[in-house]
Amino acid sequence: MNQDLLIPVSAVAELLYCPRNFYYRVLEGADETNKHVTQGKVEEERRDAYARLSRPEYTQYRRIHLSSETLNLSGILDVVEEKAGELYPVEFKTGQTKDKLNDAVQLCCQAMLLEEHLGMNLEKGYIHYTGSQRRKVVWFDQQLRETAYTAIGNAKRIILSNEIPLPVADARCNGCSLAPRCLHEEVSSLQGESKPRRPLPGINLGRTLYVDSPGAYLRKRGERVVVTKEKDTLADVPLTDIDQVVVANGVNASVSLLTSLLYNGVPAYFITGAGRVMGWLNPCWNRNILLRQDQFRLVQDREWRLNTAKGFVMGKVANMRTILKRYSRSINDSWLEDRICQISAIVPKIAEADNVDTLRGYEGNASRIYFSSFGTLFKEKADFNFEHRNRRPPKDPVNALLSFGYAMLTKDVTSGLILAGLDPYLGIYHVAHYGRPALALDLMEEFRCIIVDSVVLRTINSGMIGSNEFEEYFGGIQLTEAGRKKFFTAYQQRMSQEITHPIFDYKLPYRRIIELQARFLAKVMRGEMEEYKAFVVR
Ligand code: SF4
Repeated sequence: MNQDLLIPVSAVAELLYCPRNFYYRVLEGADETNKHVTQGKVEEERRDAYARLSRPEYTQYRRIHLSSETLNLSGILDVVEEKAGELYPVEFKTGQTKDKLNDAVQLCCQAMLLEEHLGMNLEKGYIHYTGSQRRKVVWFDQQLRETAYTAIGNAKRIILSNEIPLPVADARCNGCSLAPRCLHEEVSSLQGESKPRRPLPGINLGRTLYVDSPGAYLRKRGERVVVTKEKDTLADVPLTDIDQVVVANGVNASVSLLTSLLYNGVPAYFITGAGRVMGWLNPCWNRNILLRQDQFRLVQDREWRLNTAKGFVMGKVANMRTILKRYSRSINDSWLEDRICQISAIVPKIAEADNVDTLRGYEGNASRIYFSSFGTLFKEKADFNFEHRNRRPPKDPVNALLSFGYAMLTKDVTSGLILAGLDPYLGIYHVAHYGRPALALDLMEEFRCIIVDSVVLRTINSGMIGSNEFEEYFGGIQLTEAGRKKFFTAYQQRMSQEITHPIFDYKLPYRRIIELQARFLAKVMRGEMEEYKAFVVR
């Protein structure tokens, strides 16, 4: 027996349900929930209000923490009941009465812990189903004990080998709360096999509370978030309707609200007036240390870095070409057509680059051609004359919008990387510098033009943003407060816009696609996928 290895009892039950689910929970620290899990937690909280409950006919002891180095098990027993001199464990489950082996094995493991702790044998226990309020007796016979020992042995093998088990790929996957992390159908599809049978459930709808009005104050009132400024209420929304909070300089928030955001897993981002992210409050660093170990190891591997960086650059260049092609249809300009051909000629060379400097050369050339054409895509060229990309500070309105939009995108890509368990500061293509989210800059390459540039073109060409939405500031140009609000709204709409995935053939919003790309990158690092494939629009 390995004395240091303590496997959570609940995880042994998960292993019987799906070994891959066990791996994600125990080795990657996955804590995604679905409505059944949340319901279970609420019921558990209510039950645990008392540590001990005495009734004339029985006594209940609640939430007993036990562990055993001999069994390699640890766990929290929901309830241990004593009735007529007999002691037995009771495990609570949501829903109606079922006949599930994994539930019985979980209870048996609890009984084995209790037996070792008390030095006595237990014959039976109960599973209490809260939906039907009925109990099902479970006998701890030899067969069930052997199943439990085998499951513990398998659990140890998975932990020590650190290999991700194959997906069960059957009816168990329907309703599995880890499906958005497992992605086995999507990975097969990317590798040229069958397409996913159904769309992936979303876990983050991207509902953002954005506050950049100086002097505004955010506080918690009951289960709602209230934003006030002087005597006015600017927003009043349920906490459960928010997936992230973005606050700019000059906005204040109460500690009680920030604590609630952390408790509910809602990140808060703090940005400058120009949209640059200064930092964020995130519920806890993702517990998947194995993934970050792989990330640190792989970025030392020059060949792996080059091959993965080619994916980012390929996505960027192919998507730049698509944006130009889409707009060229209505412009009908032979000069623009020629520029598109020049970018097309660069695409096949990317795969041939034998070092990162050559790759940067291709990317630089394609970007130069793209931005030299970008100005021709605006209808109103007098107010929005664009010649080339400039920044820090931007010198014209289009560059001010691009800079603001890229800053927003950096925030959202960073958020996707953190969700996937990656370190956003450790880049593959972009070199790590102090305070630079290099991996976020890598991953956002393929999304810059299809998200931000597209929003810039739409807001200007539709007249949503006019020249009066900009102001001079220290030798540069920035958006006014009203302009920032309009642009942010358009950016959010783009992030929530559902498009049909070119490979999976189901619809999902851009925000979710960013998260998926981050998860695929993580799978490449964990060896679940061979190479990183950028998201390329048709
Ligand atoms: S989706 Fe299926 S294979 Fe993946 S963890 Fe869930 S049950 Fe297992």
